[in-house]
Amino acid sequence: MPVYEFRCEACGPFDAHHAMAQVPRAQACPACGAAARRVFSAVGLSRANSPRARAIDDAARTADAPEVVRSVPRQAGAPGAVPRVSRAPRHAKLPRP
Ligand SMILES: [Zn+2]
Repeated sequence: MPVYEFRCEACGPFDAHHAMAQVPRAQACPACGAAARRVFSAVGLSRANSPRARAIDDAARTADAPEVVRSVPRQAGAPGAVPRVSRAPRHAKLPRP
């Protein structure tokens, strides 16, 4: 349910949840009970969890403290090395150089 903003003349603004088809023009103020008119304000679109916002946050977080490589990556074929070739069946269908 969307959040709508109402403004009481005495107490100020407050938010209330209503179904989009049942939004009243006025609502009783939760503090004083007076009729509070609905206020049309900017839409609160959230970008907090979008991939772009996460990328920006990650870049800002690591700008001052980048990840540090403490050892040389193991060579392919060495014991314990991570294989560089994918074993996924669908990757086998890809063209090879
Ligand atoms: Zn009030």
